[in-house]
Amino acid sequence: MPTNKPIPTSTTEYEHQYWQRVANGDVCIAHCQACDHVYHPPRRYCPDCYSDEWEFEPIAGTGTVYGYTSIHRPTERFASDTPIVSAIITLDEGPRLMGRVACDSEAIAVGTRVRLDTSGLSSDNVRLTFELLTK
Ligand SMILES: [Zn+2]
Repeated sequence: MPTNKPIPTSTTEYEHQYWQRVANGDVCIAHCQACDHVYHPPRRYCPDCYSDEWEFEPIAGTGTVYGYTSIHRPTERFASDTPIVSAIITLDEGPRLMGRVACDSEAIAVGTRVRLDTSGLSSDNVRLTFELLTK
């Protein structure tokens, strides 16, 4: 179902491929074939060795909260989503990315373990959403 919420625009072929994968629930990081470095977001040259020989690599979807904030007064289009817990997640593979965490702000802390929920991803929704991992 289409929403009135914005989706990212791609300025490079790598970004276009990345967002298409996300829309299909296939969230990836870049894996340099020359030096084995993994990074995010994808870019033409590896930030460690400047090689252009890299490939998309699927992520396990698990990670740890590096930092977060709770948004109680978002822009109008996101008003129905409040409060929004937005976090920087350190993936188990190493790179960090931003996403929402489906929880109350009191339930999250730096170091909380989370898992990506790909069930709501589509061409109209590429907002990454994580859920809390319970012990
Ligand atoms: Zn490299």
